[in-house]
Amino acid sequence: RLVLGIESSCDDTGAAVLDEAGVVLGESLHSQKEVHLKTGGIIPTVAQQLHREHIAHVVQEALTRSGVTPGQLAAVATTVKPGLALSLGVGLRFSLQFVRRHRKPFIPIHHMEAHALTARMLRPVAFPFLVLLISGGHALLALARGVNDFLLLGQTLDEAPGDTMDKIARRLSLTKHPRCSALSGGQALELLAREGDRSKFNFKTPMGQHYDCNFSFAGMRNQVTMTIRQQEEVEGVGPGTVLSCVNDIAAATQHTIARQLAKRTHRAIVFCKAKALLPTSNPTLVVSGGVASNQYFRKALTVITDATGLHLLCPPASLCTDNGVMIAWNGVERLREGRGILPFDQEVSYEPKAQLGVDITADVKQAN
Ligand code: ATP
Ligand code: FE
Repeated sequence: RLVLGIESSCDDTGAAVLDEAGVVLGESLHSQKEVHLKTGGIIPTVAQQLHREHIAHVVQEALTRSGVTPGQLAAVATTVKPGLALSLGVGLRFSLQFVRRHRKPFIPIHHMEAHALTARMLRPVAFPFLVLLISGGHALLALARGVNDFLLLGQTLDEAPGDTMDKIARRLSLTKHPRCSALSGGQALELLAREGDRSKFNFKTPMGQHYDCNFSFAGMRNQVTMTIRQQEEVEGVGPGTVLSCVNDIAAATQHTIARQLAKRTHRAIVFCKAKALLPTSNPTLVVSGGVASNQYFRKALTVITDATGLHLLCPPASLCTDNGVMIAWNGVERLREGRGILPFDQEVSYEPKAQLGVDITADVKQAN
């Protein structure tokens, strides 16, 4: 059985055709990142317009590359939550027209569930496993107990780490930096941090006193912004100039985020072990989302998983950021279970805000 997956929840238009074993027969991806980098952030109406312009040929390209006709598909899976309303709307409308025309079942997909399950496409990771999802819009720790059975252990109380890094990069005017002009904020900071000295600046790790698995990044961003202002005074320049200590600021910022990710993940592992929520044999931590491609973060998390006896699994960068493959794979997983598959003529709406699974963040706090 073949599944077509369609993604349009944020700023990537993606499509892919997978078989039931998880083999990618064909895929296509159109990224809007360059456009949004120029405007200094995503403008929803611009994202919507670009999705509209590209979705038809992205889907057609995935089908052509796979050599599959719509008639051969077993189902179409599309992200319907969470994400930008205007972006989700384009993918959903296109998909519903498609399934009606070809009389195919429709599988609505939760974007974060798809990020979490991607690892199972690459390796036979058995449920339950722990998952850390870090991206431009999310930071969450959850226990995956089944395809659509998640326990939410913690999430960000303010902004997501990718968003934080993008904003700091913008404040540092990194698009003017010769080595960073085409990179996302997170990529730019990682690159510069390699040549920086993190001990030159000391940012406080947020949430140090909170005994739960939630995240917070806004306070740290304020500290970093204040430091940037001070350094501009020291160097006698205004905003818009790339500071000479930019590498050190990047290194300290990255280190502070890494510390928080490691601490909260460690707490989640301790909680799951105390409650016997993880299997004793081969317990696994899956890390995904765009920010998971950061090597420094991966290293910090490896220290934690090594110390607690967990196996760390991180999909390659191309599968960590948004793509159609992960949506098609989620469709395959749902098809195998026979769950959440709708007839082609059923009405479906999108949900910009949608939590992943059952929220037990308060229980984690009480247990500590
Ligand atoms: P979501 O998946 O929550 O809807 P999104 O689609 O914006 O959000 P992704 O495409 O998964 O997120 O990831 C993009 C984010 O990842 C950006 O904020 C970017 O700065 C960040 N990012 C990309 N590469 C790196 C890296 N090497 N280090 C840190 N952050 C990175
Ligand atoms: Fe995503």
